[in-house]
Amino acid sequence: MPHSNTMFDAIVIGTGPGGEGAAMQLAKAGQNIAVIERYEHVGGGCTHWGTIPSKALRHSISRLIEYNESILFNQEDASRQLTFADIMSHASGVIRKQTKLRGSFYNRNRVTLIHGEATFIGQNTLSIKREDGTQETISGKQFVLATGSRPYTPPDIDFTHPRIYNSDTILSMQHDPQSIIIYGAGVIGTEYASIFRGMGVKVDLLNTQSRLLSFLDDEISDSLSYHLWNNGVVIKHNESYASVEAKDDCVILTTHSGKKMRADCLLFANGRSGNTEMLNLPEVGLEPDSRGQVRVNERYQTAAKHVFAVGDVIGYPSLASAAYNQGRFAAESMLADTDEHKSLVQDIPTGIYTIPEISSVGKTEQELTRDKVPYEVGRAQFKHLARAQIANTLVGSLKILFHRETKEILGIHCFGERASEIIHIGQAIMQQPGEQNTIEYFVNTTFNYPTMAEAYRVAALNGLNRVF
Ligand SMILES: Cc1cc2nc3c(=O)[nH]c(=O)nc-3n(C[C@H](O)[C@H](O)[C@H](O)COP(=O)(O)OP(=O)(O)OC[C@H]3O[C@@H](n4cnc5c(N)ncnc54)[C@H](O)[C@@H]3O)c2cc1C
Repeated sequence: MPHSNTMFDAIVIGTGPGGEGAAMQLAKAGQNIAVIERYEHVGGGCTHWGTIPSKALRHSISRLIEYNESILFNQEDASRQLTFADIMSHASGVIRKQTKLRGSFYNRNRVTLIHGEATFIGQNTLSIKREDGTQETISGKQFVLATGSRPYTPPDIDFTHPRIYNSDTILSMQHDPQSIIIYGAGVIGTEYASIFRGMGVKVDLLNTQSRLLSFLDDEISDSLSYHLWNNGVVIKHNESYASVEAKDDCVILTTHSGKKMRADCLLFANGRSGNTEMLNLPEVGLEPDSRGQVRVNERYQTAAKHVFAVGDVIGYPSLASAAYNQGRFAAESMLADTDEHKSLVQDIPTGIYTIPEISSVGKTEQELTRDKVPYEVGRAQFKHLARAQIANTLVGSLKILFHRETKEILGIHCFGERASEIIHIGQAIMQQPGEQNTIEYFVNTTFNYPTMAEAYRVAALNGLNRVF
């Protein structure tokens, strides 16, 4: 049905978490909105080539490792192996379910969903190009850009070669490599290093920085380095590629420091660019930066007052979790012209699904030391918890950083199985108002036993015992 005669209250571009968050909030407020999506299914990069597939892959690999290491279940001489295609089939099932569910949200809330690629052709008008080449124009009073990002692909590497992948194309990998070079040791690179190593693939992880995930607490970053190393991942820091040569049977990467490495394939996971090039943003007076990202204020409003932007297209923190809330709060700003929720962008937890998993919220030790905050540390090691012993998830720890005098919780850092779930207990207490956000909560409350949550009580007692 053509929509050219309708003036929508708002048009959202993109159906990832950012677009969905904005669209649902606007629709529930009774706005007449349209959502544009260029891919054949809703859900965005998050559902189809980012968060969901990588987490589903990781889950299968974790269970495989658990099975192989269990004397109780695996009594064979040899370890059980899975191919990339095997674990992708589980991931595809999850993607299908997620797509169906997310699609139902649009139907249920009577959102006009239009498939095609959106381009501004006027201050309030978009041209939508459908896959069959036909076009339509639609108009709206306000806009939300939620177009996400894509892997950065430098022009001197041949990404059309079947042995060279980025984090999108790796999902359609057809062969089973015995070795892989992963270039870029950020969140995506380290997560895929864990996945491939878990499948028994030899992994060379090339880091362009001097340490892994330097935004993490140093102890956690060191723990990740140790565990990847201990599992056989070869990590090289401070490296950058000089050339990548793709051959019929291998890929050869040469670094600027003169090293040469060969593997069955290469995963290039170094940097992402905002999806803005097709939007023709100059038409609304906007100029994306060199990374294709759009600048916004605390209300997620761009320099064009009727255009808002959320999610990966605005850069940091580039997380699905944050994108969804940004979308909701941008919608609230659009509806009520309010900046009430500007604190949202702070204190976002980090969840990194390496094996072992990592999660943290708040300050790191190095930040507190730099700021001369008198803090103390409380630690619990998973190996001492009954629940971890039962589940045989002994690797890991929980660390609570708190103010020596006020006992206020300043940061929580967790390493190990279920870290990304465990962190939310501490986050909830940390965000309590007034004096209720102290470490003392954890010693004055009763935890179910045996649980991993009990780590909070153990860490709190450990930390308070250090205060004199
Ligand atoms: C391998 C990987 C693992 C990740 N793991 C995690 C994780 O564990 N946790 C986490 O929180 N985050 C994770 N992320 C990040 C997360 O996926 C992104 O932060 C999130 O998807 C961003 O949401 P978004 O709504 O901004 O964009 P997206 O989810 O990318 O959606 C953007 C949508 O816009 C559409 N679009 C683009 N341009 C146009 C146009 N011109 N017209 C119409 N439609 C358009 C695209 O087709 C797409 O569907 C991961 C990312 C990757 C790549």
